[in-house]
Amino acid sequence: MSRPKPYLVKEIFGPTLQGEGAHAGRPCVFLRFAVCNLACTWCDTDFAADGAIHLDAAEIVARLREVDRHGSRTVIVTGGEPTLQWDAPLADAVRDAGFRVHMESNGSRELRARVDWLTISPKPQFHDGRFHLLPDLPAAEIKVVVDDTVDDDVLARYESNWTAEHWFVQPCMDERYDHHLARAIDLATRRPWWRLSLQLHKLIGVP
Ligand code: SF4
Repeated sequence: MSRPKPYLVKEIFGPTLQGEGAHAGRPCVFLRFAVCNLACTWCDTDFAADGAIHLDAAEIVARLREVDRHGSRTVIVTGGEPTLQWDAPLADAVRDAGFRVHMESNGSRELRARVDWLTISPKPQFHDGRFHLLPDLPAAEIKVVVDDTVDDDVLARYESNWTAEHWFVQPCMDERYDHHLARAIDLATRRPWWRLSLQLHKLIGVP
């Protein structure tokens, strides 16, 4: 019998709260895959394969159930870039276990298996046109991290690229946070279908 397919998992943890976007404050657990197809300069996520472990779908589901002690049955699937590994067998196993799947992708790759909520957080500014944002992804929300590279023209390009119900600007949480926050507020004020998203988990100190 062949061994079940392994996925490269950086961490599975919970219970915690979703910190960002339309579901901010929602109890959940996290499944973070290793590896990303991009290399954004201000990336604050450790997605290196170093320290990641190989788990098959049944092992991932067992671990999700274990950390979901309060029964949120909501898993945030992130990375790295989760579409590199998310496929139908894993999606079926996680959803059959009763989990609602919320995924955050950078919008540069096809989604190979179903999710219940797709957040696209595009970062093309770090890659000199070397990759394309896919226009036909089933996005529920677009979340743009605001630094000096993000302006009205950038947001207008995203608006023409996707159809989504929720649009967020989120200040980059670096040493110039106050500056980025002021710009994000200004953008949301002038484009009122966009809303301000703050990284609630960082503000209240949860993982
Ligand atoms: S797409 Fe996300 S995880 Fe990948 S390098 Fe950029 S910020 Fe980091």
